[in-house]
Amino acid sequence: MTRVLILFGPPGAGKGTQASRLSAALALPHVSTGDLFRENRAKGTPLGKKAQTFMDAGQLVPDDVVLDMLFDRTSKSDCREGYLLDGFPRTIPQAEALSKRLAATDRVSVLNLIVPDDVLLERITGRRSCKACSNVHHVRTAPPKAPGRCDKCGGELVQRTDDTTEVFGKRLSVYRQQTQPLEGWYGRAGNLVNVDGNRAPDVVFEELRQKAFPEQRGGRV
Ligand SMILES: [Zn+2]
Repeated sequence: MTRVLILFGPPGAGKGTQASRLSAALALPHVSTGDLFRENRAKGTPLGKKAQTFMDAGQLVPDDVVLDMLFDRTSKSDCREGYLLDGFPRTIPQAEALSKRLAATDRVSVLNLIVPDDVLLERITGRRSCKACSNVHHVRTAPPKAPGRCDKCGGELVQRTDDTTEVFGKRLSVYRQQTQPLEGWYGRAGNLVNVDGNRAPDVVFEELRQKAFPEQRGGRV
């Protein structure tokens, strides 16, 4: 049995950080489709080249190509016991395609981080990043000692374009339209666990860790 842990949640929910911590705590390799994509392209693998032809033509890389990359990675021995999927699936057709390619014995568990839009917007649009060292402050929750200056190196703090209300708001609305319907899809399949992501990161992590594979709490069944 391979344990497949899927973590999803809106941009700004802290998914990346939680995925890295969970991967370490549960000893599951962190398989990020974004990273796989970059690796395959950098190494010039047949799949990387295939993906590139679609991108050169200004087209989206088909889900099948992404899935080929994914299963190429998860066929490696370190994923035999399980892995944590990050960045995939993002749409219902992707979830359907993934489900078809998983083995019947694979145990899928989906963790859904719930954070309201206004909290996400406040978190992200308040971010100020240091131009020199990339250290991140927040105007309300982690303000710098000197206005506009990084605490670590004194560099200039700026708002990244990705962190503006306009750009971030767009990403959030794409998420709500395309990815959030997965809640219903996985919910009906009976393997979705909702976790309140609007709390301190350590508290959220502890709950994610405990709920990752609920049937394994208190020993193996
Ligand atoms: Zn700095």
